[in-house]
Amino acid sequence: MRHTCPHCRQPSLPGRSVRGSSRGAPCTCPHCARLSHVLASTSGGIVGLTVFGLVLAIVAGTVWSSVVLAAGLVLLVACVNRLMWRRVELWPISREAARRSARVSLLAFLR
Ligand SMILES: [Zn+2]
Repeated sequence: MRHTCPHCRQPSLPGRSVRGSSRGAPCTCPHCARLSHVLASTSGGIVGLTVFGLVLAIVAGTVWSSVVLAAGLVLLVACVNRLMWRRVELWPISREAARRSARVSLLAFLR
C-alpha cells in the first residue's frame, strides 16, 4: 500500500515510512524528494483506538470464555487499524520546519 505524496500527487510513499513519520522525522517522497508527515494527533489516535480495541477483545474473550470471539475481535481490530492507516492524511512540511521540530523534540526529551 502506497500513500499519495501531498507535493507531487504520486502514489510513492510506502506505508511503513508513513506510519513512522512525525513532524520531527517526516517521510521523504522517492519521486520528488520532498517531506511530509502524519499529524501526531492522528497517529496517536489510531494507536489509542487499536490498544483500546485489543483490550476490549481480550476482556470480551475472557468474559464469555471464548478464544474464537477474542481472536475474531483481534482480527477485526487489525483490519480497522489497517483501514485507518490507509485513509490517513499526509501533511507537507519543509526541511527547515522538520529540522526545527526535531531540535525542539530533542530539547524536550533532554530536559
Ligand atoms: Zn512527492
